[in-house]
Amino acid sequence: MNPWLIGVPAAATIAGSAIAFGAVAPGSQLFGETICHTASPDQLAITFDDGPNPVITPKLLDLLDRYGAKATFFVIGRFVIDCPALTRDIAARGHLLANHTQTHPNLFWMAPSAVRDELKLCQGALQDATSSDAKYFRPPYGFRNPWVVRAARELGMQTVMWTLLPGDWRARSTEWLAERMLPIAQHVQSSVAHTTGDVLCLHDGAHRALGGDRSRTLDALQYWLPRWRDLGLKFVTISEAVSLPAR
Ligand SMILES: [Zn+2]
Repeated sequence: MNPWLIGVPAAATIAGSAIAFGAVAPGSQLFGETICHTASPDQLAITFDDGPNPVITPKLLDLLDRYGAKATFFVIGRFVIDCPALTRDIAARGHLLANHTQTHPNLFWMAPSAVRDELKLCQGALQDATSSDAKYFRPPYGFRNPWVVRAARELGMQTVMWTLLPGDWRARSTEWLAERMLPIAQHVQSSVAHTTGDVLCLHDGAHRALGGDRSRTLDALQYWLPRWRDLGLKFVTISEAVSLPAR
């Protein structure tokens, strides 16, 4: 049991619900301030988790280049160590590298020192590969606890969640995935005035091993990028696009 859960027996059910919400809901600020949208409705922040991946990331970089799209890559430190040149290429082509821990554990169950180690090791891998630290962090599976966001902040990083998580790791068709990405276009076309824009969470890798097949992610993006561009969306990195949520 996590030490901070001890001592809440009477309200366990209510507290449990609140904790579950705070731990996983992308917009929740319960466990610390997180970035979960862009500052303007015409800005779309496309983000990729679980790379770099030598099978997919180079093709993805070419695809993004075709549309002048800049994106944010939340990389896993141990894959950065395996693929330093590819990691450098991501940055050299104008994208933003960000921290997604060293080994992709569920941080919710980990003690503060272990959380800090996971974040720090990934920072070290990025520093070795690119000579710079990440300024943004995304927890694996989106799981936070009271010290995850703080640990990131102490290492100079803001925590980033998302507005849309289409589930591109599922073994479904490209059509299914493309359909799950429809809300982005719907937001732009909606008659309801939006004041913020989307942060889309996709995956160019698979956290268990290098070489995961994310070709359907590429295909769905190939479908949407020209359509989003024609709708007037600008593709920006997290650092270009975010403002902290209203408190
Ligand atoms: Zn991940």
